[in-house]
Amino acid sequence: MGNGQSCKIVGIGDVCLETELGCKLLLKKVRHVPEIRLNLISTGQLDDEGYSNEFSNGRWKLSKGLLIVARGQKTDTLYRLRARHNSGQINVVEDYPIELWHRRLGHISEKGIQILARKQSLPVKGMYLSTCDHCLAGKQRRVSFVRSRLSRCDHILDLVHTDVCFMSDRSLGGALYFVTFIDDHSRKV
Ligand SMILES: [Zn+2]
Repeated sequence: MGNGQSCKIVGIGDVCLETELGCKLLLKKVRHVPEIRLNLISTGQLDDEGYSNEFSNGRWKLSKGLLIVARGQKTDTLYRLRARHNSGQINVVEDYPIELWHRRLGHISEKGIQILARKQSLPVKGMYLSTCDHCLAGKQRRVSFVRSRLSRCDHILDLVHTDVCFMSDRSLGGALYFVTFIDDHSRKV
């Protein structure tokens, strides 16, 4: 069933699926492999959980007692199951490192992760964040521009700077341009 590639398993947990027939199918000890393109369900494990698999005429039927839980069709060598993933019901057993959550959640602060971990929203390993190069780079400041003119005019309205500015979107009044007047002494606009 696999394609011979070695994929990294990053978590083992339970996943709840809702089949096309509206039945809930709880899969236990699911290996979460982010790189994998197909999700494979072990019929042997379903058997262990008391489900009956029936394969015939290019069709597959899964039942438990008298209840038909799911149906599927054969595609190539696999029998397909169409089901919705109830994402709220994943119970990941393995915790992820705090650095991974930091990057996944848009470089969230250490405190932010700790709050989420306390609410049990995140399966996180470790509470203290190591130095993040991207965050450090983001906090660095540019060298300020050198002032070209150190002195200002002595009195109001001695010198007024003016500029015509273009706007890509029209204003509510329909204008596309506006003019600014900046008094050199007071810097009032
Ligand atoms: Zn960061």
